[in-house]
Amino acid sequence: MLPRFDVAGEGVFGNVGMKQTATHCPYCSLQCGMHVQSIQGEHAGKHWIIAQRDFPTNRGGLCQKGWTAADLLADPGRLLAPLVRDRPRGSLRPATWEEALDRITGAIRNIQKKYGRDAVGVFGGGGLTNEKAYALGKFARVALRTSQIDYNGRFCMSSAAAASLKAFGIDRGLPFPLADIPLADTILLVGSNVAETMPPVMQYFQQQKKRGGSLIVVDPRATPTAAVSTLHLQITPGTDAALANGLLHIAIKAGSLDEDFIAARTEGFDLVRRIASSYWPSRVERITGIAEQHLTRAADLLGKVKTAMILTARGPEQQSHGVDNVLAFINLALALGKAGKPACGYGCLTGQGNGQGGREHGQKADQLPGYRRLDNLEHRAHIAKVWGVGEEDLPKPGRSAYEMLDAIGSEDGVRALLVFGSNPAVSAPRAGHIEKRLDALDFLMVSDFFLSETAERADVVLPTAQWAEEEGTMTNVEGRVLLRKRATTPPRDVRTDLEILHALGTRLGCGGGFPSEPKDVFQELRRASAGGAADYAGITYDRIEREDGVFWPCPSVEHPGTPRLFLDRFGHANGRARFHAVEFRPPAEEPDQEFPLYLTTGRTIGQYQSGTQTRRIPALMQAAPNAFVQIHPSMALTYGIRQGEQVRLTTRRGSATLTAELTPAIRMDTLFVPFHFNGTERANLLTNPALDPVSRMPEFKVCAARLEKGRPC
Ligand code: SF4
Repeated sequence: MLPRFDVAGEGVFGNVGMKQTATHCPYCSLQCGMHVQSIQGEHAGKHWIIAQRDFPTNRGGLCQKGWTAADLLADPGRLLAPLVRDRPRGSLRPATWEEALDRITGAIRNIQKKYGRDAVGVFGGGGLTNEKAYALGKFARVALRTSQIDYNGRFCMSSAAAASLKAFGIDRGLPFPLADIPLADTILLVGSNVAETMPPVMQYFQQQKKRGGSLIVVDPRATPTAAVSTLHLQITPGTDAALANGLLHIAIKAGSLDEDFIAARTEGFDLVRRIASSYWPSRVERITGIAEQHLTRAADLLGKVKTAMILTARGPEQQSHGVDNVLAFINLALALGKAGKPACGYGCLTGQGNGQGGREHGQKADQLPGYRRLDNLEHRAHIAKVWGVGEEDLPKPGRSAYEMLDAIGSEDGVRALLVFGSNPAVSAPRAGHIEKRLDALDFLMVSDFFLSETAERADVVLPTAQWAEEEGTMTNVEGRVLLRKRATTPPRDVRTDLEILHALGTRLGCGGGFPSEPKDVFQELRRASAGGAADYAGITYDRIEREDGVFWPCPSVEHPGTPRLFLDRFGHANGRARFHAVEFRPPAEEPDQEFPLYLTTGRTIGQYQSGTQTRRIPALMQAAPNAFVQIHPSMALTYGIRQGEQVRLTTRRGSATLTAELTPAIRMDTLFVPFHFNGTERANLLTNPALDPVSRMPEFKVCAARLEKGRPC
C-alpha cells in the first residue's frame, strides 16, 4: 500500500509522516512532472518514492529512468565531502570545504597571474538549472573575467539552435506546445528515437496517428519509433541535406509549394529553388540510399496535406554540416508553407534536461543572458549594467567546448578548468585525446554528485546537491519554464552549485554578485533577460507553480507567456523567415578500404548521457548493462561474428571493445554504438571531432570504422 496524496503536501502512511513534493524528472528535456514522496521523522533523508503527477507535458507518464530517479539520492557512491589531491597522480583524499575552496581560489589566482585571465576556463552543462547556467556565465565573465566558458550543450543542440536563429531569428526547441503534435496531418521526424529516449512523448504521436495522421521517420536504424511510423526512410548516415533537398525537388515538381506563404512571409527562396532543381530523385536515391518511390511518398505525405511538422534531433544535427542539414529541412517546411501556422512548424527535440534554458542564459562561449550576444555592443551594455560592471570589462567570445578542451596544453590554452555538471572524459568526441588534454591541465576542479570519469582526474572534487535537494527552474523542450522544487535536504557536507559559486565569488572579492538562493538568482536573471529574445521578465516562481509552467518570451507579469511562436511574424526584424541555400556535402570522413563501415552513435532506453547517474541504478543496469555494437546479420556473417561475441571497433581516433548485437534493424553498411558507457566501451573513443563551421558541433553521428572479430582492446 502506498501513501495517497491528491496534491503536493503532507500525508500519512501507516503511522509514518510523509511529505510529497511536486517537481520534475532530473533527466531529459521532456522534464516530466513527478511527485517525490519522502518519509519524515526519524527515517527522514533515507527513503524516497517517485509517484505520478498529472502534468501537461507527460500527463502522468514516466519512463524507467524517471521512476528510478530517487534511487540516486541515497546511493552509497554519493560524494559526501570535498576531495583534494596533494600531488600530481596521487590519490584523492577527503578535505574540509575551507581547504578545498582555498585550493581552488589559490590555483585560479596563481594561474591567472602567471598566464592571464583566459588561462582559467569553465565547462558547464545542459542539465544545470537556469539559475546555475546564468550564475556560471556571470561567474566566468565577472569573477574570473575569462572568455573561456562553454558547456556540453555544444555537443547536443547547437546546430539546431544556430539554424533556427538564422532562419527564424529566434531559437526555441519547439515553437509550439507538445499538445499541438496530434493536430498535424503529417510529421517528419528526422534522427530521433523518441520511443526509447523520451517514451512518454509517444502518447502525442499515437494520438496523431489515431486522428489519421502520418508519421515519417528518418533513421539509419529501424528503431522502435520507426516501427510505429507510416513510412521509414532508412537513410545513409550523413546524407540528410540531400534528402531534404530531394524532397523539396519532388514537392516543387508536384506543385505542392505554398507560393502565397513564400511571398508573404519569407525571403530568399529563389536560390533555394534553383539548388533544389539539381536534386532529382535518382540522384538523391544514390546519395541517401532511399528508394525513389519512398522519396515521392514522403514528399506527398508532407506536401499534399493541410498541416505538417518537421522535427529534427541529434541525427542530422550532430554532424560537421549539422547547421546546413537543419536549414535544408527548414527550407522544406517554409516552401510547403508548413511553418508559422497552427499545427505546423519546424522544431528541434532538445536532449538534455535543460537543453533549452541552458543555451539561453550565458554559459555558451559567445552568449549573454536572454539569448543576447557577446559580440553585440547593445547587448553587452545591457548585461554590464545589470551586473554592475563596465561594458569594456566583459570579455570577448571564447572558444567552443571541443576547441577549449583540445587547446589545453597549447600556449594560449586554458591551464585550469572548473567543470560543473559535465563529464567530458566520456561525452567529448575523440575521448582518448580529451583525457590526455585533461591530464595536461595544471589544475582541474569538478563539481558533481558522483566521482565521474572526469572527477577521477581532478585536483579538487566538490560534492554537490542533486536535483531533489535544491530548487531551480528548467526550460523544457517546448520552451516552457518549469520549477523543480526541493523535496529533501542535501547531506550535511554537500553544497549546491550556487553555494559553491557564492563561496568562490566571495573569496575572489565579488561574493555579493553571486547569491546562493535560487530565487534571488532568478530575480536577477529576469532583469538580465528583459528585452532579450528569451525574455523571462514576467516569469515568477509563483506563476510557474500556478500555471504549470510559463512559455517564454514573457516580457511582463501581466503577459500570458507565448506557447506558440511565429503565428503572426517570425523573429527577424522584418518579420520574415529566411531561406538559406544549402548544397549537400558529404561527412568529414566516409568509409574507405581501411575503414569500410559507417559508425553512428546514440542513446538507449535505460541509460542517460555519460551514464554517471544511470549506470548506478540496478534496474537500469539490468535493462542496459553494457555497451554493444549493432551489426546487420549479413555483415556479421562476412566477419564471422556471432551474437554476444566481444568485438573490436576501430576508427582513426582509437578502438573500443564491445559486445556484438546482431540485428536486421540496422543498415548493412552501418554500425551503431550507444555512448553512455566508460572505459574501453566508450563510443567517444571512436567519434570524429570534425566541427560544424557555424555551430562548432562535433560530428558524433557519422565516421568511418573497422570491425574486427575477437580482438579486445
Ligand atoms: Fe525523465 Fe525524460 Fe523519462 Fe520523462 S522521458 S521520465 S523526463 S527521462
